[in-house]
Order: sequence, then structure tokens, then C-alpha cells
Amino acid sequence: MKRLTVLVDMDDTIEDLLGAWVDTLNEQYHTAVDPNDVSDWDVAKFFPTLTKPQVFAPIYNDDFWRTVKPIDGAADALQQLIADGHRIYIVTSSFYETLAVKMTDVLFRYFPFLKWEDVIITSHKQLIHGDVLVDDGVHNLEGGDYLKILMDAPHNRGYDAERGGMHRVTSWDDAYDIITQYAFQSEHDGEEVEHDRMTVILYSTGCPRCKVLRQKLDNSGVQYTVNDSVDDMLALGIAQVPVLSIDGELLPFAKAIEWVNQIH
Ligand SMILES: [Mg+2]
Repeated sequence: MKRLTVLVDMDDTIEDLLGAWVDTLNEQYHTAVDPNDVSDWDVAKFFPTLTKPQVFAPIYNDDFWRTVKPIDGAADALQQLIADGHRIYIVTSSFYETLAVKMTDVLFRYFPFLKWEDVIITSHKQLIHGDVLVDDGVHNLEGGDYLKILMDAPHNRGYDAERGGMHRVTSWDDAYDIITQYAFQSEHDGEEVEHDRMTVILYSTGCPRCKVLRQKLDNSGVQYTVNDSVDDMLALGIAQVPVLSIDGELLPFAKAIEWVNQIH
């Protein structure tokens, strides 16, 4: 399994900002908006009786952030990913005005295994180098050079994730599974690169078994050269062909076939 750098958004990915926000406004202004109906990025559209400053006031209020709760399963999944050997970075475009309270009373309170060193503040997530990004914002995933996991949210339900090259998930269990699967696939990619870096020489006289091994190598995609010099073979103590040299280690026919088979 490859150890991945996993980038994770904060708002509405590991904590329920929208739920707390809508609850606060409903309580304050006696409205009855359901967070599930907030199908647009602009929350103000769903509170037509309120002004924009009224709708956005909670975001700038320290006490509000103390009511924001984690999303089910997020802490367990992140902890498990760390235990599996992956590196987690929180990548958030949080406003600087409320950053301190948001870190202290949400992130480090519910995710105490994360530290300030694990946090990247930016509105340009595509500039961050990582293997995976988990985010509810389509605009953060689009154009990024990472595996794109879209955390389902009412505002992104109208988006065709599959068409956009993203994996939509509705839970952290599902996100964990996709990341883990990707880690195993990526390890296989790494192995192929390693095989490319090896020096593979086929010692062959063109015998029937030499041809079989050569065919196997051709099918495997391994880069190799052929040496048919009997003098070279004798100098190496090769009495029977074919022999496959892997970085100088000499494998007789059966072992060579076994080696080629384990590549795929
Ligand atoms: Mg978000």
C-alpha cells in the first residue's frame, strides 16, 4: 500500500457548518429552513426575509463556531487513515477573522490528533500537492491534480460527479474505502516504475524454453535486453539456458517464469 498525502477540507466535509448555521438563523429569526433544502452555495437565497449581513453574521461570531459539531465518522476515518500510514492535511479557505476560534473550538476540539502544522489555509486548493482531496466544494476539486472525492452536500447534489471525474460519497466510511483502494492501486503503479528501473538481461540461445521466457517478458512489458554470447554465459557459470538476470541475480527458467508472473 502506498502512503498517501490526503488533503481534507474542513467546512461541511469534517464538520457540519451548514447545519449549525441554518439552526442559528432559524432560532434567531424564527424561520424554518431545512439544511437539506439549501441547494445552492449562496445560503442567503434561502433566507429571503433576511439581509445578507444578517445571514453571514454568525460566520464572524466566535460563539457561533462553538456550536459547530463534527460530521459522523470523520474523526474515526481520519484517525484510521493516519494509523494506516497516510499523511492528513486539513486544507481550508477559512476567513482569517475567525480562524483562531475555529481551530481551537472545532478542529482541535473534535480532532485532537491533528496539529496546526497539519493545517493549510488557502482559497487555491489546486496549488496544493497531494494524492487525494476530500471536499464538498466542486470548485476546489475541478482542475486539481489529485484523486477527487466529493463529499455529498445539498448544494452539490445537482452536479454530475462522475462526469466531472469525481467520486461522490455520502459518508466517511465510503471516503475511507475509496482512499484505501487507491492506496493499493498506487502501490502497484509504483512497482511497475521499480521494474522499469531494474536491469533485466535474458541469456538465451534461442532454445524452445528461451522463446517461451522471451514471449512472457514481451507480454509483461518489462524492459530487458537479450545476451546470446556463450562466452558471457560461461563466464557467469551459466550451464543451462535460459537464465534471467535481475540486477545481477541469476534466475533459472522456472524461477524466471515465477518472477515474471508476480509482476501482474
Ligand atoms: Mg467545504
